[in-house]
Amino acid sequence: MDPIWERYEALKDKIKEYDPGLDAKRLDDAFFYADNAHNGQLRKDGSPFITHPLAVAEIAADLELDEDSIIAALLHDTVEDTSATYDEVSKRFGKSVADLVDGVTKLTKVKYVSKEEEQMENLRKMLMAMAKDIRVILIKICDRLHNMRTMQYQSPKKQREKALETMEIYAPIAHRLGMQRVKWELEDTSLQYLDPVGYEEISKELAARAAAHEEFMATIQKKIEERLAEEGIKATVYGRIKHAYSIYRKMYGQNKTMDEIFDLYAFRVIVDDIPSCYNVLGCIHDMFKPVLGRFKDYIGTPKPNMYQSLHTTVIGQEGLPFEVQIRTWEMHHTAEYGIAAHWKYKQGMANKDLGSESTFEWVRKLLEAQQTTDAEEFLRSMKVDLFSDEVFVFTPNGDIINLPSGSTPIDFAYSIHSAVGNHMTGAKVNGRMVPFDTQLQNGQIVEVITSKTAKGPSRDWMKLCKSNEARNKIRQWFKKERREENIATGRAAFESELRHSGLSLSAITGEEILPHVLKKVRFGTLDELYAAIGYGGMTAQKAVVRIKDELARLDRVQAERAAAEKLAQDQQNETIMPNRGAAAKQTPAPVPDKTPRHSSNGIMVEGLDNCLVKFAKCCSPVPGDPVVGFITRGFGVSVHRADCPNCAPSKRRPEEAGRWVKVSWVDSGQTAYQTALDLSAKDRDGLTLDIAMALSSAKVKVNGLNVHAAPDGYALASILLEVRDQAELTSVINKLSQLQGVYQVKRTTG
Ligand code: MN
Repeated sequence: MDPIWERYEALKDKIKEYDPGLDAKRLDDAFFYADNAHNGQLRKDGSPFITHPLAVAEIAADLELDEDSIIAALLHDTVEDTSATYDEVSKRFGKSVADLVDGVTKLTKVKYVSKEEEQMENLRKMLMAMAKDIRVILIKICDRLHNMRTMQYQSPKKQREKALETMEIYAPIAHRLGMQRVKWELEDTSLQYLDPVGYEEISKELAARAAAHEEFMATIQKKIEERLAEEGIKATVYGRIKHAYSIYRKMYGQNKTMDEIFDLYAFRVIVDDIPSCYNVLGCIHDMFKPVLGRFKDYIGTPKPNMYQSLHTTVIGQEGLPFEVQIRTWEMHHTAEYGIAAHWKYKQGMANKDLGSESTFEWVRKLLEAQQTTDAEEFLRSMKVDLFSDEVFVFTPNGDIINLPSGSTPIDFAYSIHSAVGNHMTGAKVNGRMVPFDTQLQNGQIVEVITSKTAKGPSRDWMKLCKSNEARNKIRQWFKKERREENIATGRAAFESELRHSGLSLSAITGEEILPHVLKKVRFGTLDELYAAIGYGGMTAQKAVVRIKDELARLDRVQAERAAAEKLAQDQQNETIMPNRGAAAKQTPAPVPDKTPRHSSNGIMVEGLDNCLVKFAKCCSPVPGDPVVGFITRGFGVSVHRADCPNCAPSKRRPEEAGRWVKVSWVDSGQTAYQTALDLSAKDRDGLTLDIAMALSSAKVKVNGLNVHAAPDGYALASILLEVRDQAELTSVINKLSQLQGVYQVKRTTG
């Protein structure tokens, strides 16, 4: 049998495994259609082109994507590279597939030029414009992955370009979407072309150590398996070496040798449920010495990309450190496939919902949760599209122009250059002539037709355009080009408005009044005012309202002046009533503000208003604690617990006596204060779990939990948590103290 045909049959079987409802006929059609369309085309390695879309569909099936996505993967290069069209694909395979193919095609057209901010920004916006349906990105990532796998046939220049783009764009996107496995492969294949020497070095070194590695990993794996079996915990255990790029980053970024990399080895323990995760953790910590500060509970606090696992680093008898990741099967699936996994679960629930906004909403939440600056940037551009206050369209050259949503070709023309707008005589969208009031949609290609003899913009354009930029430029044009005309039209509008409000021109042009009036409307001469009204810089109504205000004020001033003069006369006669008359018109002297000022975090500092307050890290006070303040140099007041060792009288330097101030708690509405506890206990299995359970039943937010074994059979836990006040903290301390084997729970000091 034809090997390609064989591969296709295998693909079909793979899909049927996770999607028994597959419409095989439809898939066959797509395969034949693609095969036929690409007929005669060859890849760089000499194989028939169809092997590429087939491979992309295979990767998509690895991610267990849905039928439409697989079909779109098979067809993804047809519209771009063959005579196939959107309409034809849409007619044969439906609009959903055609839109996916179209989205992937557009993404392919975006050229990544350099790392420059602007380019990144454009690309992100672009991605978002196309990512209305997240499946577009997923298919594009599959496409890129296969291209990276077969990059050896490309020219060195192309290799570097694609590798850079993959490292800068696609791997981070895969990461953000939680697709760990794909991300690693994208990074490793890119590294191969970006730093062939470094990649080679790592591969060689890993190969040289392979035998030793395997032996070490097999021993550890066996130990863990045996112990878990003894404990009656059902678990799958396996070891692996970290992927090349992550080793690379550590070696070159932190200037380490491979021996110095802490967690070259990682073991995974996959279990059925969450309690088992903590049980396994207890066993691991019992078998091997935990490395301080390396325990991380991503089950309690999942990573922003939904990743969940317990991480700990321990040292084996051989003295080699290794990382252990403990997770459930569901967490494992999410970790490997990220959004694709999630999306698959959704598929089971409601097939109709796919690729719709709700899927996108999930991505938005996911991205919102990201906290690095980089991600914020990503999010910002994402939001722009999401709340649809912007559209992204293309120039015929493929440059992206971003406009407020509802924009028309007028906005587009002026965003390119005012000269383009001023000379515009027509506009095309996707090759067809459109009226000027056409609202542009994401992804359209817009072309402006200009003529040197164009008469210039019409006043109506100001109503048709959406962006301030276009409106200002149009105004600018009228201002400059049509001054005489503007003055005439402006004057007419102004005089008519004056008449409407019962004023005559002569009422404001008096020598005394005119300068005040012009000052109020901020123009030097009446002609300037008329011109502004003429070109639309100011409305006649607004000008007249302002002028009326000014006239009223002038009247008032005059009346007051008259009254004051009268009073002065009165006072000469009568000196008993000093607080009457003109003086009474003044605003009363401000009453001293008696409300205590305090910072918003619930602390009032005696004698200091509105000062910056922060809580000392050494003792982290919570409301209810007796507290004392210290005025730091330049950083506001630092608040300590009164019994903090750092505040003991012996620690207070005489020259700083004046810096110690009284502070007290006030109700501020803030409900969470971070503080820390130290717990000591007899070390035992399940201690970490019990602590975690106690904290969770107390419903406090835990920001950190670090348990480690001390040499003499003790375990020490540091707990970072947020509480409302001292009462809540006391109840947490009581709960923890009651746990089996706990000797002491105290607040951290010093
Ligand atoms: Mn492709």
